[in-house]
Amino acid sequence: MDKTVGVLGGGQLGRMLVEAANLLEIKVNFLDGGEYSPAKQVINHGNHIDGSFKDADAVRKLAEQSDVVTIEIEHVNTDILEQISQSGTDVQPHWRTIRTIQDKYAQKELLQSHGVATAQSVPLDSASIPDLQKASEALGLPLMLKSRREAYDGKGNFPVKTKDDFKSALDTLGSNKDLYAEKWANFRMELAVMVVKTKDQVLSFPTVETIHENSVCKLTYTPARGVSETVNEQAQELARKAVACFEGKGVFGVEMFLLEDDTLLVNEIAPRPHNSGHYTIEACPVSQYEAHLRAILDLPLFAEDLQLREPAIMLNILGGDSEDSHKAFAQEALKQRRTKIHLYGKGKARKGRKMGHITVTAPTMSEAETIIQPMIEYADKDKP
Ligand code: ATP
Ligand code: MG
Ligand code: MG
Repeated sequence: MDKTVGVLGGGQLGRMLVEAANLLEIKVNFLDGGEYSPAKQVINHGNHIDGSFKDADAVRKLAEQSDVVTIEIEHVNTDILEQISQSGTDVQPHWRTIRTIQDKYAQKELLQSHGVATAQSVPLDSASIPDLQKASEALGLPLMLKSRREAYDGKGNFPVKTKDDFKSALDTLGSNKDLYAEKWANFRMELAVMVVKTKDQVLSFPTVETIHENSVCKLTYTPARGVSETVNEQAQELARKAVACFEGKGVFGVEMFLLEDDTLLVNEIAPRPHNSGHYTIEACPVSQYEAHLRAILDLPLFAEDLQLREPAIMLNILGGDSEDSHKAFAQEALKQRRTKIHLYGKGKARKGRKMGHITVTAPTMSEAETIIQPMIEYADKDKP
């Protein structure tokens, strides 16, 4: 356990990672732009690096003082990770895994080549109307036009319903970006599974129901509601099969679509802890963060430690109209029993920014639903 972990990125995922690391006295150094970023606030040992995680010198400096380098965001420069790995730094998950996953089209191609079902996808040769027309002939309309890289919170996506949307879709996503088109998934629900890849096992946490609003994760319910035991198991199997396609160790968030006929498709994979796994902090013996550390440091990990202790609901605290809206939310949440509050230390709120989350766990899902209902209403009060 006297290993030092270096992390590219220092946001809320890094913050929760270091909260888990502190309990095991695992030292973690962060590289990111902010001296008091959410993660750096939690551990103070003078070895963090302030700089861009896309800057080669800064990443090399982090590597020099780390036994293992890992990421909390996939939008990093994998050429530098490849270089430090060739000079002997252990990079987890493997830089090739990060490189493939950060290109959503390449990710889908790799999954499909291993027999993992995903939405049918067509790359666009250029961001032009004739190329989008060609893709729509192959996939039909509606389709989802997506940026291959740098996408998050739906920010690289544009739903194309009819031909009239072609121009605005291309204008919105930008002409210089690599784009691809995805067949529209008529899903009944969205599910997610956190998978842990260790040196010799691929294990999974429970199946989570995720609810998105404006393409941002709003709520998660574990276990997923209204899903048969078969689907529950199939989702975990599919998620493990998907993650097994990639090299290296660590936790991976696997987002899936459950179609009307109960077939499952993988939407996308994140090679790191994930919003849909926050609930594991309170609801499972070992959280996704501790599981990530155990996996990358080759520490023991047991499948039964990833099982659910009791039903859990997670609600994101998104920035509202005022700069301290998240604090007002937390004040309200303090009034609710069985409610764990996580604020991320991001300072002033900006509209829609992830400022924190709450997790309610209870002996039954229906009790958890009753407890969290006033907080969902509070979160919705400013909605137009
Ligand atoms: P994240 O913040 O999860 O990384 P992202 O920007 O990478 O998000 P996606 O996961 O590709 O975006 O899509 C965001 C949401 O858009 C999905 O959760 C789903 O609700 C919807 N969506 C994505 N692809 C499709 C599709 N092919 N058909 C229908 N809806 C889709
Ligand atoms: Mg994504
Ligand atoms: Mg997504």
